Amino acid sequence: MVAFDNVSKNWGENQVLKALNFNVNPGEKVSIIGPSGSGKTTILRILMTLESPTDGQVHVDGDVLWNVKHGDKIRETKVMRATRRKIGMVFQGFNLFPHMTALENIIEAPVHVLGMNKAEARDRAAELLQLVGLGAHMNHTPPQLSGGQQQRVAIARALAMRPKVLLFDEPTSALDPELIGEVLNVIRNLANSTDMTMLMVTHEMRFAEEISDRVVMFDHGSAVEGGPPEQIFKNPQEERTRAFLQAVL
Ligand code: ATP
Repeated sequence: MVAFDNVSKNWGENQVLKALNFNVNPGEKVSIIGPSGSGKTTILRILMTLESPTDGQVHVDGDVLWNVKHGDKIRETKVMRATRRKIGMVFQGFNLFPHMTALENIIEAPVHVLGMNKAEARDRAAELLQLVGLGAHMNHTPPQLSGGQQQRVAIARALAMRPKVLLFDEPTSALDPELIGEVLNVIRNLANSTDMTMLMVTHEMRFAEEISDRVVMFDHGSAVEGGPPEQIFKNPQEERTRAFLQAVL
Protein backbone atom coordinates (compact mmCIF):
# COMPACT_ATOMS: atom_id res chain seq x y z
CA MET A 1 0.00 0.00 0.00
CA VAL A 2 2.91 2.29 0.85
CA ALA A 3 6.40 1.76 -0.55
CA PHE A 4 9.55 3.83 -0.07
CA ASP A 5 12.17 2.77 -2.63
CA ASN A 6 15.66 4.10 -2.04
CA VAL A 7 14.35 7.34 -0.59
CA SER A 8 16.83 9.92 0.65
CA LYS A 9 16.12 13.27 2.24
CA ASN A 10 18.80 15.84 2.92
CA TRP A 11 18.60 19.11 4.79
CA GLY A 12 21.88 20.65 3.67
CA GLU A 13 24.58 18.37 5.07
CA ASN A 14 22.10 16.56 7.29
CA GLN A 15 21.06 13.30 5.64
CA VAL A 16 17.78 12.61 7.36
CA LEU A 17 16.74 9.58 5.27
CA LYS A 18 19.41 7.35 3.75
CA ALA A 19 18.31 5.32 0.71
CA LEU A 20 15.38 4.11 2.75
CA ASN A 21 13.47 1.00 1.71
CA PHE A 22 10.30 0.56 3.67
CA ASN A 23 6.90 -0.98 2.87
CA VAL A 24 3.51 -1.11 4.52
CA ASN A 25 1.05 -3.75 3.30
CA PRO A 26 -2.66 -3.08 2.71
CA GLY A 27 -4.54 -3.12 6.01
CA GLU A 28 -1.36 -3.44 8.04
CA LYS A 29 -0.97 -1.53 11.32
CA VAL A 30 2.66 -0.45 11.62
CA SER A 31 4.33 1.53 14.40
CA ILE A 32 7.58 3.36 13.86
CA ILE A 33 9.80 3.79 16.89
CA GLY A 34 13.28 5.23 17.29
CA PRO A 35 15.32 8.05 18.77
CA SER A 36 14.59 11.73 18.24
CA GLY A 37 15.86 12.98 14.88
CA SER A 38 15.94 9.53 13.26
CA GLY A 39 13.61 10.65 10.44
CA LYS A 40 10.29 9.21 11.63
CA THR A 41 8.19 12.34 11.16
CA THR A 42 9.91 13.06 7.85
CA ILE A 43 8.48 9.83 6.44
CA LEU A 44 4.95 10.91 7.30
CA ARG A 45 5.51 14.42 5.95
CA ILE A 46 6.78 13.02 2.65
CA LEU A 47 3.63 10.88 2.40
CA MET A 48 1.50 13.97 3.01
CA THR A 49 3.57 15.86 0.37
CA LEU A 50 4.47 18.38 3.07
CA GLU A 51 8.12 17.62 2.26
CA SER A 52 9.72 16.26 -0.91
CA PRO A 53 12.41 13.58 -0.98
CA THR A 54 15.83 14.48 -2.35
CA ASP A 55 16.00 11.17 -4.19
CA GLY A 56 13.96 8.02 -4.69
CA GLN A 57 10.43 6.83 -5.30
CA VAL A 58 7.38 6.62 -3.09
CA HIS A 59 4.30 4.62 -4.17
CA VAL A 60 0.91 4.73 -2.51
CA ASP A 61 -1.84 2.30 -3.50
CA GLY A 62 -0.02 1.46 -6.72
CA ASP A 63 0.43 5.09 -7.83
CA VAL A 64 3.64 7.08 -7.90
CA LEU A 65 3.51 9.81 -5.26
CA TRP A 66 7.16 10.81 -5.65
CA ASN A 67 9.79 10.03 -8.27
CA VAL A 68 12.80 12.23 -7.65
CA LYS A 69 16.26 11.97 -9.12
CA HIS A 70 19.08 13.74 -7.33
CA GLY A 71 17.21 16.72 -5.94
CA ASP A 72 15.21 17.56 -9.10
CA LYS A 73 12.49 20.08 -8.46
CA ILE A 74 9.13 18.31 -8.78
CA ARG A 75 5.96 20.08 -9.82
CA GLU A 76 2.77 18.75 -8.30
CA THR A 77 0.88 16.55 -10.75
CA LYS A 78 -2.73 15.39 -10.88
CA VAL A 79 -1.65 11.89 -9.88
CA MET A 80 0.18 13.29 -6.86
CA ARG A 81 -2.87 15.26 -5.78
CA ALA A 82 -5.20 12.29 -6.23
CA THR A 83 -2.78 9.95 -4.45
CA ARG A 84 -2.31 12.39 -1.61
CA ARG A 85 -6.07 12.35 -1.01
CA LYS A 86 -5.92 8.66 -0.15
CA ILE A 87 -3.94 9.57 2.96
CA GLY A 88 -5.13 11.14 6.20
CA MET A 89 -2.93 12.41 8.99
CA VAL A 90 -3.37 13.09 12.68
CA PHE A 91 -0.80 15.61 13.88
CA GLN A 92 0.88 15.99 17.25
CA GLY A 93 -0.69 19.43 17.74
CA PHE A 94 -4.23 18.62 16.45
CA ASN A 95 -4.17 21.47 13.83
CA LEU A 96 -7.90 22.26 14.09
CA PHE A 97 -9.36 25.60 12.99
CA PRO A 98 -9.90 27.34 16.36
CA HIS A 99 -12.86 29.50 15.28
CA MET A 100 -14.87 26.60 13.85
CA THR A 101 -16.97 24.07 15.77
CA ALA A 102 -15.96 20.40 15.89
CA LEU A 103 -18.57 19.65 13.21
CA GLU A 104 -17.44 22.50 10.95
CA ASN A 105 -13.81 21.37 11.26
CA ILE A 106 -14.82 17.92 10.08
CA ILE A 107 -16.97 18.95 7.10
CA GLU A 108 -14.48 21.52 5.78
CA ALA A 109 -12.41 19.19 3.58
CA PRO A 110 -15.20 16.84 2.42
CA VAL A 111 -17.23 19.87 1.25
CA HIS A 112 -14.44 22.03 -0.17
CA VAL A 113 -12.01 19.39 -1.43
CA LEU A 114 -14.26 16.47 -2.35
CA GLY A 115 -17.28 18.64 -3.26
CA MET A 116 -19.55 16.61 -0.97
CA ASN A 117 -23.02 17.98 -0.37
CA LYS A 118 -23.19 19.83 2.95
CA ALA A 119 -26.08 17.86 4.46
CA GLU A 120 -24.38 14.55 3.69
CA ALA A 121 -21.07 15.85 5.10
CA ARG A 122 -22.85 16.93 8.30
CA ASP A 123 -24.51 13.54 8.75
CA ARG A 124 -21.22 11.78 8.26
CA ALA A 125 -19.42 14.20 10.63
CA ALA A 126 -22.06 13.60 13.32
CA GLU A 127 -21.58 9.82 12.93
CA LEU A 128 -17.82 10.19 13.22
CA LEU A 129 -18.12 12.38 16.30
CA GLN A 130 -20.27 9.64 17.87
CA LEU A 131 -17.60 7.12 16.93
CA VAL A 132 -14.91 9.07 18.79
CA GLY A 133 -17.23 9.62 21.78
CA LEU A 134 -17.96 13.30 21.11
CA GLY A 135 -21.55 13.20 19.91
CA ALA A 136 -22.49 15.74 22.59
CA HIS A 137 -19.72 18.17 21.63
CA MET A 138 -20.27 18.81 17.95
CA ASN A 139 -21.01 22.52 18.41
CA HIS A 140 -18.00 23.17 20.64
CA THR A 141 -14.99 25.01 19.26
CA PRO A 142 -11.46 23.73 19.99
CA PRO A 143 -10.84 26.23 22.84
CA GLN A 144 -13.93 24.77 24.57
CA LEU A 145 -12.53 21.24 24.34
CA SER A 146 -9.73 19.47 26.24
CA GLY A 147 -6.60 18.40 24.35
CA GLY A 148 -7.81 14.80 24.30
CA GLN A 149 -11.17 15.86 22.89
CA GLN A 150 -9.46 18.05 20.27
CA GLN A 151 -7.31 15.14 19.17
CA ARG A 152 -10.41 12.94 18.87
CA VAL A 153 -12.00 15.61 16.65
CA ALA A 154 -8.80 15.59 14.58
CA ILE A 155 -9.10 11.81 14.17
CA ALA A 156 -12.75 12.18 13.08
CA ARG A 157 -11.67 14.89 10.63
CA ALA A 158 -9.07 12.60 9.07
CA LEU A 159 -11.64 9.77 8.81
CA ALA A 160 -14.15 12.06 7.07
CA MET A 161 -12.01 11.92 3.93
CA ARG A 162 -12.29 8.10 3.91
CA PRO A 163 -8.53 7.63 3.62
CA LYS A 164 -7.01 4.31 2.63
CA VAL A 165 -3.98 5.12 4.75
CA LEU A 166 -4.12 6.88 8.11
CA LEU A 167 -0.96 8.39 9.57
CA PHE A 168 -0.46 9.31 13.21
CA ASP A 169 2.47 11.50 14.25
CA GLU A 170 2.97 11.02 17.99
CA PRO A 171 -0.75 11.62 18.53
CA THR A 172 -0.56 11.77 22.32
CA SER A 173 2.72 13.57 22.90
CA ALA A 174 1.11 17.01 23.34
CA LEU A 175 -1.42 15.71 25.88
CA ASP A 176 -1.50 15.78 29.66
CA PRO A 177 -1.05 12.22 30.98
CA GLU A 178 -4.67 11.88 32.12
CA LEU A 179 -5.93 12.61 28.58
CA ILE A 180 -3.74 10.10 26.75
CA GLY A 181 -5.92 7.05 27.45
CA GLU A 182 -9.04 8.39 25.74
CA VAL A 183 -7.12 9.08 22.51
CA LEU A 184 -5.36 5.71 22.59
CA ASN A 185 -8.77 4.03 23.08
CA VAL A 186 -10.07 5.63 19.89
CA ILE A 187 -6.98 4.57 17.93
CA ARG A 188 -7.16 1.05 19.40
CA ASN A 189 -10.82 0.72 18.35
CA LEU A 190 -9.96 1.88 14.84
CA ALA A 191 -7.06 -0.54 14.58
CA ASN A 192 -9.30 -3.40 15.69
CA SER A 193 -12.30 -2.53 13.56
CA THR A 194 -11.12 -1.25 10.18
CA ASP A 195 -9.12 -2.57 7.28
CA MET A 196 -7.52 0.84 6.81
CA THR A 197 -3.75 0.83 6.58
CA MET A 198 -2.36 2.59 9.66
CA LEU A 199 1.14 3.96 10.15
CA MET A 200 1.95 5.50 13.51
CA VAL A 201 5.01 7.24 14.88
CA THR A 202 4.88 6.81 18.61
CA HIS A 203 6.77 6.94 21.88
CA GLU A 204 4.02 4.88 23.56
CA MET A 205 5.85 1.56 23.47
CA ARG A 206 3.22 -0.48 25.33
CA PHE A 207 0.55 0.80 22.99
CA ALA A 208 2.65 0.06 19.90
CA GLU A 209 3.18 -3.44 21.24
CA GLU A 210 -0.53 -3.94 21.77
CA ILE A 211 -2.02 -2.65 18.51
CA SER A 212 0.65 -3.14 15.83
CA ASP A 213 1.01 -5.98 13.36
CA ARG A 214 4.61 -4.84 12.90
CA VAL A 215 6.98 -2.48 14.68
CA VAL A 216 9.86 -0.87 12.79
CA MET A 217 12.85 0.66 14.52
CA PHE A 218 14.42 3.70 12.85
CA ASP A 219 17.83 5.14 13.53
CA HIS A 220 19.79 7.76 11.59
CA GLY A 221 17.44 7.69 8.62
CA SER A 222 17.31 3.92 8.11
CA ALA A 223 14.95 1.15 9.13
CA VAL A 224 17.23 -0.81 11.46
CA GLU A 225 14.89 -3.74 12.00
CA GLY A 226 11.22 -4.59 11.87
CA GLY A 227 9.03 -7.45 12.94
CA PRO A 228 6.08 -8.51 15.05
CA PRO A 229 5.89 -6.50 18.28
CA GLU A 230 6.74 -9.47 20.51
CA GLN A 231 9.97 -9.98 18.57
CA ILE A 232 11.04 -6.32 18.55
CA PHE A 233 10.20 -5.71 22.21
CA LYS A 234 11.21 -9.08 23.70
CA ASN A 235 13.95 -10.30 21.41
CA PRO A 236 15.45 -7.46 19.34
CA GLN A 237 18.22 -8.59 17.03
CA GLU A 238 20.04 -5.27 16.65
CA GLU A 239 22.14 -3.65 19.33
CA ARG A 240 20.73 -0.20 18.43
CA THR A 241 17.19 -1.45 19.07
CA ARG A 242 18.22 -3.01 22.39
CA ALA A 243 19.92 0.20 23.53
CA PHE A 244 16.95 2.34 22.49
CA LEU A 245 14.42 0.12 24.24
CA GLN A 246 16.55 -0.04 27.36
CA ALA A 247 16.61 3.76 27.48
CA VAL A 248 12.86 4.25 27.01
CA LEU A 249 11.20 1.28 28.73
P1 ATP B 1 11.29 13.27 16.94
O1 ATP B 1 11.05 11.95 17.60
O2 ATP B 1 12.10 14.21 17.76
O3 ATP B 1 10.04 13.91 16.38
P2 ATP B 1 11.99 12.29 14.28
O4 ATP B 1 12.61 10.94 14.25
O5 ATP B 1 10.53 12.38 13.93
O6 ATP B 1 12.26 12.96 15.69
P3 ATP B 1 12.35 14.14 12.13
O7 ATP B 1 11.37 15.14 12.66
O8 ATP B 1 11.94 13.33 10.96
O9 ATP B 1 12.83 13.17 13.29
O10 ATP B 1 13.67 14.96 11.84
C1 ATP B 1 14.85 14.35 11.35
C2 ATP B 1 15.93 15.38 11.20
O11 ATP B 1 15.55 16.32 10.20
C3 ATP B 1 16.25 16.16 12.45
O12 ATP B 1 17.66 16.22 12.55
C4 ATP B 1 15.67 17.52 12.17
O13 ATP B 1 16.41 18.52 12.80
C5 ATP B 1 15.79 17.63 10.66
N1 ATP B 1 14.76 18.51 10.08
C6 ATP B 1 13.42 18.28 10.08
N2 ATP B 1 12.77 19.30 9.47
C7 ATP B 1 13.71 20.19 9.09
C8 ATP B 1 13.67 21.46 8.42
N3 ATP B 1 12.51 22.00 8.02
N4 ATP B 1 14.83 22.08 8.19
C9 ATP B 1 16.01 21.54 8.58
N5 ATP B 1 16.13 20.35 9.21
C10 ATP B 1 14.99 19.69 9.47
